[in-house]
Amino acid sequence: EPSEREIVHHVNRRLPEATVALLRELGRTGERLGMAVYGVGGFVRDLLLDIDNQDVDITVEGDGILFAETFARQHGCRVRSHQAFGTAVLVLPTGGKLDIASTRLEFYESPGVLPTVERSSLRRDLHRRDFTINTLALCLNPDRFGRLIDHYGGQKDLREKMVRVLHNLSFVEDPTRCFRAVRFEQRLGFHLEPHTEGLLRTAVRMGLVERVGGKRLLGELTSILREREPLPAVRRMAALGLLPFIHAELRFGDDVEHLFAESERALAWYELLYLPTPVEAWAVYFLALTDRLDSPKYRETCTRLAMPGRWLQRLFGHRHRAIKHFQALRQGLRGGVSIANSRVYALLRNIPIELLLYGLARSGQEELRRLVSHYLVRLAHVTLLSTGADLHDIGVPPGPSFGRIKERLLAARLDGEVRSRDDELEFARRLLKDGV
Ligand code: ATP
Repeated sequence: EPSEREIVHHVNRRLPEATVALLRELGRTGERLGMAVYGVGGFVRDLLLDIDNQDVDITVEGDGILFAETFARQHGCRVRSHQAFGTAVLVLPTGGKLDIASTRLEFYESPGVLPTVERSSLRRDLHRRDFTINTLALCLNPDRFGRLIDHYGGQKDLREKMVRVLHNLSFVEDPTRCFRAVRFEQRLGFHLEPHTEGLLRTAVRMGLVERVGGKRLLGELTSILREREPLPAVRRMAALGLLPFIHAELRFGDDVEHLFAESERALAWYELLYLPTPVEAWAVYFLALTDRLDSPKYRETCTRLAMPGRWLQRLFGHRHRAIKHFQALRQGLRGGVSIANSRVYALLRNIPIELLLYGLARSGQEELRRLVSHYLVRLAHVTLLSTGADLHDIGVPPGPSFGRIKERLLAARLDGEVRSRDDELEFARRLLKDGV
């Protein structure tokens, strides 16, 4: 095991100077208040593994809110406290955020009531965590700065690359940990410790994951799909029998493997276009994962996951249309004649970017990629040169024909049939005369 001095050396070498200074300041504040202060969880795990992690989680032995408010006062930070949980978020002058928790024991006076918080020791607090590799604490108080607290053999498991639960009932207590286990295992290149894997398989066999609420399940799934390389974790979920808890008919096979690889390609391709519209990679992978499900089953999946309205709209509302429109484009390409800009525009507009990339991933066709980039880079931004007032002035009556004429004008402009405001107005007059 590394000594305190070696850890301090590692902290200084590994973390930005400002972070080290911050950690020391946190320790000093704790000292003044007579509280022990620790860096905990993923931050310590990644520090020891030499992996960048800017999310510093702090646990205070004592009143975490008092600690956070004192620190904020002295360092010009904003603070948001959650009295009921004894936790606080510090917003640093740099914009960074720090989560502050108190070592605590939650007990429920009656079900459905917020937990009353009691102080307890660090050890008990760490005992409620998911895996040993997440139970390490790094002391920050000046006289013990850099001392590692390792009650549950976390360092040994980090060395041996093992994901291990703290006790046999861990997955029963919280079945979302099944997904978390896979995520850490695959991200870090670790293995499930054999007994832990046995416990996980038992939890799966007993159907415990069924009980997990949609929101939490979606949370864990998106965390997995947000990983830099989600495919290995999805493969592993499949092997452990976790996919049916998302939808009974969700399968994993060569087609999904292929679609994930193509999704990754489509995402990389999109990144190189440097467009301002951000894309949620997890959503593209989610579409890839559920590709085989027909509309009703896809809907059931979204319901199971309590997909929030915004995403339901984005991912469900447009899925069927996107698939159909890509088919139309592919057919158009097969015809050999070039497809009119206005047709491309009509087929692709209003399709969210995640679905455009999904469509590309499904077809993997170079020419289709060209069409989509032409749409994204150029066509999507084309606007009319004439204004609504112009159209009004030449006698286009308000009402549905107004919209129809504007649409026809835009199509003509996309196809290069009109090139100036005058062209447009001329064209509009003709349309009027033809009674459009
Ligand atoms: P990441 O690097 O992905 O942020 P993390 O380790 O910070 O990983 P989080 O999901 O942010 O993971 O959780 C923070 C800490 O809270 C974890 O280190 C873990 O110990 C604990 N934790 C989170 N979820 C659970 C859970 N379901 N059961 C027990 N402990 C959990």
